[in-house]
Amino acid sequence: MMPETKSECKDILLPVFRDSLKKRYCPICTILSNYEVSILESILYERVNDPGVRREFIGSMGLCKHHAWLIVELSEKSTLVDNLGPSLLYRDVLALYIRQDLHSKRETCPICREVASYEKMIVNWVSQCIDTSDWFRSLYSHGKAVFCDKHYHMIVSQMRNPHAIEEFKSIQREKLITILNRIDSYISKKDYRSKQEIGEEEVYAWIDALQALKGDRSFRGCSG
Ligand SMILES: [Zn+2]
Ligand SMILES: [Zn+2]
Repeated sequence: MMPETKSECKDILLPVFRDSLKKRYCPICTILSNYEVSILESILYERVNDPGVRREFIGSMGLCKHHAWLIVELSEKSTLVDNLGPSLLYRDVLALYIRQDLHSKRETCPICREVASYEKMIVNWVSQCIDTSDWFRSLYSHGKAVFCDKHYHMIVSQMRNPHAIEEFKSIQREKLITILNRIDSYISKKDYRSKQEIGEEEVYAWIDALQALKGDRSFRGCSG
């Protein structure tokens, strides 16, 4: 029988984590990428006139480059974001830039700051669950997702239980070896003498390798 998970792993974050395990990419990158989209949508949909939001947005000269371009992406595809919110905010940023004699001296991007603190909290929660619960490790082992290098090491650095660290490492290795085998299988099936059918998982395994090494592209981290 599968051992029960510790109570701290059954909180509000569990469904979010379970969902992220169904994707091919790093569960933490996925959660953070959804989180930054949700903060930006909420700002642009309902908090454009909030004085605190305006102050931070304008103080950072319209966010960092990554988050500024994410607003453009959202304005093109999100049903919650149109051009009015960004127009109101960037109008004031541009006016300030002109007043500052065309200097873009700025404070830290508030979205980067919020995402970094959420990342710390999520990594902390995941590490604790992986460290204390066989059930949670098995959940990760059976999921499609693979932690990226950065998040794998962040998790391990917070774990205390040597047995759990060993087991987590071997689950991670297994997942990476599966990717490696798929790439090899693709390469050998591409041989002109091979008549074997190539599966989609094999064609794109190199992208899985890339994400495991570099992190999910939808969560680019912060460029300051
Ligand atoms: Zn990641
Ligand atoms: Zn940012």
